[in-house]
Amino acid sequence: MTTRKTVVGFVLLWMLVIVGMAGCGKPLPESHKVTRLLMGTIVSITVWGEPGRFDREEQAIQAAFAEMERIERVVSSHRPDSVVATINQGERGRWLPLDPEVGRILEPALRIQERSGGAFDPTLYALSRLWGFSQEPPPDRPPPAELRERWLAGRQQAGRLQLRSTDHGQELLLPNDSFALDLGAIAKGYAVDRALARLAEAGVANAIVAAGGDLGMIGQRGAEPWRIGIQHPRDATAVAAVLRLQGPVALSTSGDYERFFMHDGKRYHHILDPGTALPGESGVISVSVRHPASMVADALSTAAFILGPEKGMALIRSEKNAEALFILADGRHVATEGFATEWVGKP
Ligand code: AMP
Ligand code: MG
Repeated sequence: MTTRKTVVGFVLLWMLVIVGMAGCGKPLPESHKVTRLLMGTIVSITVWGEPGRFDREEQAIQAAFAEMERIERVVSSHRPDSVVATINQGERGRWLPLDPEVGRILEPALRIQERSGGAFDPTLYALSRLWGFSQEPPPDRPPPAELRERWLAGRQQAGRLQLRSTDHGQELLLPNDSFALDLGAIAKGYAVDRALARLAEAGVANAIVAAGGDLGMIGQRGAEPWRIGIQHPRDATAVAAVLRLQGPVALSTSGDYERFFMHDGKRYHHILDPGTALPGESGVISVSVRHPASMVADALSTAAFILGPEKGMALIRSEKNAEALFILADGRHVATEGFATEWVGKP
């Protein structure tokens, strides 16, 4: 009898211990992160808030991803059924209808093309296809010189893409085969802005959307600002600099380490100089731009990469609310006065 009582006592005690453990279990999370493959890169959305289950935020995140997927179907040059691909398949030298949303991205793109003296070029898809960085399998050698020359010759024949407004909306004209839309250096930023807008509409106050090198954030990380690491351009596992940012703000990085191949000991990467038809060689290996709008940060970082530290810095200084950090091939780094960062690594 006594033995039985002891056994029952033991079992009860253990049940209490187990129930107690379950009760005080793991603390509820303060953040929730969802990751997807989108727009040719890894996109993650993190929200921060009161410890809880994040059911409402999860719905907002799904809506933000749906918006990014919708944008990808509009702007991708590679998807044959996208709005941009349809424009690119259109006739050259003829006015074609321009989708209003593509127009909203093209307008700042053309402005930055102008302001960067053509270093930023949203119409070089024929050239990026020639290099093939977005294709499978990725390239392992440069395209033949005569194809690059032909592209450049087409460029010299005709000035640039033209836009006009008509009674039925906007129209665009691609002068010849050397012109085709490539919004790859600006559309991810646009998608980040739109995703953040969706999150904010759904009542999310603190969120960060990271699409490869393009980040946008609202609010902060609990009581602290967001802590953002800039990837070390020569060590994928290390950060070169750390920033503390308070949303709403965006940070975009363009680097020669994102997509590249080595050929005869030389690095060939995906940011192309429209003046030479070759990957840019401005002495910059990574440039990060901070701006209130992710779309503008995205375009400016690509432009500044091609322009190099002097002209690139001049462009950033001339743009309202833009700040930048340039990491140079020789290991030095230069930044605008307002780009507060903790420098960690020397490339
Ligand atoms: P990002 O990573 O934002 O610097 O953008 C690079 C992508 O933009 C490339 O994969 C191309 O699709 C496209 N691109 C390459 N060079 C340029 C350029 N000079 N101006 C605009 N877009 C470019
Ligand atoms: Mg860009």
